[in-house]
Amino acid sequence: MEVRLDANKVLDELVAGNNRFLEGQSIKCAHSSLRKLKKFARTGQLPKAILLCCSDSRAPGEMIFDQDIGDFFVIRVAGNIVAPSLVGSVEFAASTFGTSLVIVMGHTQCGAIEATLNHIEDPKTIASENIHDIVSRIKPHIYHISQLENKTTQEKSEMATRANIIASVSQLSHSSRLIESLVEQNKIRIVGALLDISTGKVEFLEA
Ligand SMILES: [Zn+2]
Repeated sequence: MEVRLDANKVLDELVAGNNRFLEGQSIKCAHSSLRKLKKFARTGQLPKAILLCCSDSRAPGEMIFDQDIGDFFVIRVAGNIVAPSLVGSVEFAASTFGTSLVIVMGHTQCGAIEATLNHIEDPKTIASENIHDIVSRIKPHIYHISQLENKTTQEKSEMATRANIIASVSQLSHSSRLIESLVEQNKIRIVGALLDISTGKVEFLEA
């Protein structure tokens, strides 16, 4: 049975969860998490949101939004890039569980963004083909920012992080017939989010 939650209500819950996290008022507790895990093992999962976010150890979605086991279907990849297997994971969750909210979350001080900016300046800085695959997906989204004059490295990094999130949202929205169709029917909403790791606050970005 498909139970599609209202994406806007879920978004409100996540804003409230981030505020609890910021105030040190997280409501998760280990006992209830284990109880939920055992329950979901019997009943199956019904995640309220799909989270495509960076692998950075400082950006754990469940903690940042004060959510629990079973709440997020999480896809983590350096630089929160959009690539075929990651799109497949979003498609799987959206079509299997009817999850209606997809969040693409990047964060400040992102190593993947900084590696891409460095690579644009000096192409020899990439250590492997596989890292190059990630960087080459970010590069078209931020190249114009790397070429700006009168911007500091930090300013470029911040602008590039935002541009990469917005580009990932747009790319994901048009990444497959299945996702396009869910978006057109208002069955999923895809939003960008930026985590400031110096404060823990999440800002939702308009495309
Ligand atoms: Zn990152």
